[in-house]
Amino acid sequence: MNVHNVGTAARAHRYDPGADAALRHPDWVIRHRNLHGVPEVLCLRRRVILIENTHDRATRRCNLAHAIAHIDLAHKATSGILSKRQELAADLLAARRLIALSDLAQAAVWAESFEELARELDVDDRVLWVRYRHLHPSERGHLFRVLDAKILTA
Ligand SMILES: [Zn+2]
Repeated sequence: MNVHNVGTAARAHRYDPGADAALRHPDWVIRHRNLHGVPEVLCLRRRVILIENTHDRATRRCNLAHAIAHIDLAHKATSGILSKRQELAADLLAARRLIALSDLAQAAVWAESFEELARELDVDDRVLWVRYRHLHPSERGHLFRVLDAKILTA
């Protein structure tokens, strides 16, 4: 199996936040708007998610996954603002959904830079960084075993 086939197979099972929202949160309205750089706006009362439309596709995908994570975690805003802890929790859940460990391990074997790895995983750099920083020790162990095996057989 060549690298191209591995990537295609991984993409077929990749988390799709748009499809997830349509399936599990059909009562929410999702729109792309010019938010002047704000990644996303979530109106819990009206059940509306607005996604910044000037960001690239991978970033929009990440921002929608982040918004869905807020909904799933039943976050409530205080004075219209979510706490830093809630933001981190949404980031972590979104990053785990967007980047399966098997995809990360496969892509990390051949990607030559952090940016290339993010591109292959169809996420922005920030989400990749969050996923990497918060890998569970067992996930980190798996990732390094895959990389070690690759280096030893190269
Ligand atoms: Zn948020």
